[in-house]
This record gives sequence, structure tokens and C-alpha cells, in this order.
Amino acid sequence: MIPYSCQQITEDDIAAVTAVLRSEYLTQGPVLPAFEAAFAARHGVAHAVAVSNATVGLHLACLALGVGPGSVVWTSPNSFVASANCALYCGAEVGFVDMDPATRNLSVAALRIKLASARAQGCLPDVLIPVDFGGLPAELREMRALANEYGFKILEDASHATGASYLGQPVGAAWADATVFSFHAVKVITTAEGGMVTTQDPALAQRLQALRSHGLTRDAAQMHHAPEGPWVYEQHSLGFNARMTELQAALGHSQLGRLDAMQARRAELAARYGRLLADLPLGLPVEPEGCRSAWHLYPVTLEAGTAPRAQVFQAMRAADIGVNVHYIPIHTQPFYAARGFAPGDFPEAERYYARAISLPLHPSLTDAQQDQVVAVLRQALFAG
Ligand SMILES: *Cc1c(COP(=O)(O)O)cnc(C)c1O
Repeated sequence: MIPYSCQQITEDDIAAVTAVLRSEYLTQGPVLPAFEAAFAARHGVAHAVAVSNATVGLHLACLALGVGPGSVVWTSPNSFVASANCALYCGAEVGFVDMDPATRNLSVAALRIKLASARAQGCLPDVLIPVDFGGLPAELREMRALANEYGFKILEDASHATGASYLGQPVGAAWADATVFSFHAVKVITTAEGGMVTTQDPALAQRLQALRSHGLTRDAAQMHHAPEGPWVYEQHSLGFNARMTELQAALGHSQLGRLDAMQARRAELAARYGRLLADLPLGLPVEPEGCRSAWHLYPVTLEAGTAPRAQVFQAMRAADIGVNVHYIPIHTQPFYAARGFAPGDFPEAERYYARAISLPLHPSLTDAQQDQVVAVLRQALFAG
């Protein structure tokens, strides 16, 4: 099987993890702060806070941004359910903004319309969660202008976009109030499970650090009472255990060292797909001016004249090509339908989903494997 995505593990990665196993600390040691510092430096951002996965990163970031009961959070329907669930964990209300069919990211035009009508109705959002779908940066410059005008915060879900850049800067540095990355095994770099939250705001970083570890502080400067001794900690908020282990941090730090090389191979494969598929009735992913995608995914849409999506999908799986579909629009999930959303609410995301198929793309994919994917797809598209 050629998987749609796959981790790349080297001997260096294995050595980094086994070194931790032979060391004094399996968790809460020196490797995690070193990984955070390296991630922050690579992204040109002041603070990087590692967490046990991106879902909890989104949850903690929502809490740190002040999301709670009575808050309104908007996101893209074309995403993984975690992009919306994080707001519900906090007791907030979730809304969606339809996607732009060209970029497949949250549509700025739809956002403008929804904001104007929300202002008229007095139900403006507190936080917007744009998603860098497939690794392509969302249009953060336009969203920042709207955030300043309407007074909402931006939490960028960059789970797909480690290593992407937007207007000359790495995703996660500027524009958003906080940015969340995922290191799940299928994502761009991996810690098996893991995530990172970046921000330029020192107070927000401090809240995130407390929230990931039970709301505790051991910093005397932050304490309400002068500590009686070095054993004293104080709880200031209701936090969680959302820590990343030293084993995961060692793997992440080692992977981060190869990010540029892995990114270059992904970009090369994406460009190669572009050439190999150019003559077929397919909608291909784009990379607009000023953006460099992380190319986590290579989703295509089947256009007029092709076999139905389900048939193409099954033919490819039968030929051991591990295609996948990203994403079933969140608002059509039964859980969200029960909260009042209905098919037809976000037609662009639904139209896109009905025709979408993600082709294999990962840094270990060979040209020969990619040629095989294209050959099988060609045949499947026009099978009777
Ligand atoms: C993978 C993913 C998440 C969740 O990441 P985990 O690290 O698996 O919790 C959230 N949002 C998007 C868009 C994702 O693809």
C-alpha cells in the first residue's frame, strides 16, 4: 500500500529517542525546552509551548484567549472536527464561514458578509479559527484587518502547515494571536502525538504554560504569597495535564532539523503532480502569490466527465493506493446536525467534499511510486 501520508523516521530520530530512554528524565526534563526554543527560532516567533496534541493545543489556546460560555467562535467547515470542537469544550457557541473554492481555505469574501450581518444582529465572533488547509496558509493579512475592525482574535489552526510561509514569513510568526501546529504521525513533522502553540504575546504564553500543567506555577515572582520553601507551588487556574514527554520532544527536535529538506521534497512532488495531472479533468491545489504551502496534502477534485468519486476511490484502494478524503464538512456530522446545522448551510464546502480525493504525498514517496499513483488514477477516472 502507498499511504496518503506517512512519517519519515531516520536513524538520527531513533538515536535521539533512545538517548532520552537512557537519560534521567522521561518527562519534564531539558529536551522539551530545547525543542520549544528551536521551533520558536525556526518560526521567528517569541514563544512556542509544546502540548500533548494539537486538539488540546486548540482547547488551551481558546481558554488562554478568553473563550468561555457566551463566547462565539467561527471556523471553516472544510477541516477536521477538532477545529470546531475546541470552542465547544470551553462552552462557547460555534459558527462556520464557507470555504473559498479556489484555495479551499475559509473565504474572506464570505467572512466579510457574515461579519456585517453579525454586527447588525449583535452576535460578532470573539475568536476566528482559520485553517491552513492542506498546508496552504489562510489569508491572514485580510483577516487581521477585519479582526482589527470588528474586534475578534485570530487562532490559526496550522495543523497542516509546519514549514509553510506567508508573505515572506513562516506561518506562526505574525498575523495570528496564537497558532497551533500538529505533530500527529500523518502530519508534516511528527512526535507520534503532539502539538505546539506559538505566540508573540508573553502573557498568553504564560497562560498556556500554566494551563498545560494543572494551572500551577513554581515561579516565586508569580506567586500570591511569598513561598515558604522551594517545594511550594500555587494553583492559579483550572489547568490540565497536556504535557509532551521528553521522548516526543526528542523526536520532534530531530524531525525539525530535517523540516526544510522534507519540505523541499514535498514541494517537488507537488510540482510533479501538477505536471503529470495537467491534462486530466481535475481541480488541482493552488499556491497563490506570496504563499508557500507545507504540502501536507495533495487533494484533487474530480471534474465533469470522470467516474463518480466513490468508484475512483475504491478502484485506487483496490490497487493499493492509499487515497483519502479531506474533509467531510464539519457541520454535516450528526453531532453538529443535532446542534442545528443542516446540509446546504455551507454549499462550497459541500460541493468541494463531494468531488474531493487526496492523493499520496509524503517525503519518502519515490518518483516511481508517484508515477504509479498517476497511472492508476488515469485508468480509474475513465473506467466504465
Ligand atoms: C490533525 C488535525 C488536528 C488535530 O491534531 P492532533 O494533533 O491529532 O490532535 C486539528 N486540526 C486539523 C486541521 C488537523 O488536521
